Amino acid sequence: MTTCKETKGFLNAYVDGELDSAGSLAVETHIRACASCLSDVENLHALASAIENGSLRFKAPARLTRNVQGAIRAANPLRPGVQFSIGAGPAFWHQPF
Ligand SMILES: [Zn+2]
Repeated sequence: MTTCKETKGFLNAYVDGELDSAGSLAVETHIRACASCLSDVENLHALASAIENGSLRFKAPARLTRNVQGAIRAANPLRPGVQFSIGAGPAFWHQPF
């Protein structure tokens, strides 16, 4: 059986589905017998769900948005069409087609 220290190093990859079948099996075997690592897995699943459903997102204040957009325009004077959007989602670069 793997140790907690070994297992905890793989929990993020396990929750993200990035482990091969042997790695997943090792984690699953461990968490069946370890409440601490199982709790960590449950917390990581809850965090992943919160990120996916957008509950951790927030709308940036208008002043912050203006300041960031102004800084980007100042840093990219040759590309005035480049806009930076922050708000109800991850930040994206938008370029006109
Ligand atoms: Zn453990």
